[in-house]
Amino acid sequence: MTGIDDLPVRDELRGKSPYGAPQLDVPVRLNTNENPYPLPEPLVERIAERVREAARNLNRYPDRDAVELRTELAKYLTRTGGHRVDVENVWAANGSNEVIQQLLQTFGGPGRTAIGFEPSYSMHALIARGTGTAWISGPRSEDFTIDRAAAERAIAESRPDVVFITTPNNPTGNAVPRETVLALYEAAQAARPSMVVVDEAYIEFSHGDSLLPLIEGRPNLVVSRTMSKAFGAAGLRLGYLAAHPAVVDAVQLVRLPYHLSAVAQATALAALEHTDTLLGYVEQLKAERDRLVAELRAIGYEVTESDANFVQFGRFDGEGGSHEAWQKILDRGVLVRDNGVPGWLRVSAGTPAENDAFLDAVRELKKEQS
Ligand code: PMP
Repeated sequence: MTGIDDLPVRDELRGKSPYGAPQLDVPVRLNTNENPYPLPEPLVERIAERVREAARNLNRYPDRDAVELRTELAKYLTRTGGHRVDVENVWAANGSNEVIQQLLQTFGGPGRTAIGFEPSYSMHALIARGTGTAWISGPRSEDFTIDRAAAERAIAESRPDVVFITTPNNPTGNAVPRETVLALYEAAQAARPSMVVVDEAYIEFSHGDSLLPLIEGRPNLVVSRTMSKAFGAAGLRLGYLAAHPAVVDAVQLVRLPYHLSAVAQATALAALEHTDTLLGYVEQLKAERDRLVAELRAIGYEVTESDANFVQFGRFDGEGGSHEAWQKILDRGVLVRDNGVPGWLRVSAGTPAENDAFLDAVRELKKEQS
């Protein structure tokens, strides 16, 4: 039977597997950091209205520069991010994954390198590979914080073209202090002027502030965001970035023309009209996240401090211990995530009922294992 490796695929793709969080049909799915709340009905109505309008013009290509959408995203960032940004500071694409891909196509590529501090969001490395950018796995401490000196050393030694800092980090949940981001930015500029991408996919769930103000006076710093988490719109596929206008000009060198469909632009604009309602769900999720942390600790698990809508918990000792625990939790109808961090699993904050089901499952597991 013909397989991938029988095809003349690029060498660096041989023997590799695609990104694959299992999409299983189980009662409680807490594995991909989605927002558990469906969009409210008035917003669903508004989307239908906006999409109906857009449909009348679907014979035409969409606004290639998504100006109305970028203007509204800039207003949202200005209102919530502690820093004024305008349309020329903002760029949007199909999910922040595409934003990251466009950044790597622009600033990475063959003969260039990117670094991330792992464990972190695995797609950074996969998108690097897809764009022909060599990947460097930077260090993280035992407690999953970034050791500033060790990270600075790694940057000085490897002189990467792109540096990824994910805050709050996925899958560990902890935020990266502002001072660390500033120090790594300086280290990256000293090593070679390189782009520093601050991935803030989960920032709305954080106890702390966005690093958006850092783009001021730092043209090589990019903040990347998404509507997949706080806006509860993972199915929409809408990510965006904020940076110096030159960065927005630069990514347009690689974006496909009309990459953002008129339907996606209309839907995102409708969602942005309902920002306040959607951010209300964020507050509920933060409270549920804090409850998960407290209850997991009470049951006897170790938990990494979380600023996101998910929690990393453990430890599951022994070879394959975390995978075995993952399966046992799944056997009780709850799907969590095994990110391949030995000894640890990750659970997304769901509705109170979903979280109760998860806590019951891990309580039973604890009894069984002690
Ligand atoms: N960055 C991080 C840290 C993530 O965890 C995710 C999604 N899991 C993304 C980016 C991509 O999100 P999307 O493409 O849905 O915007």
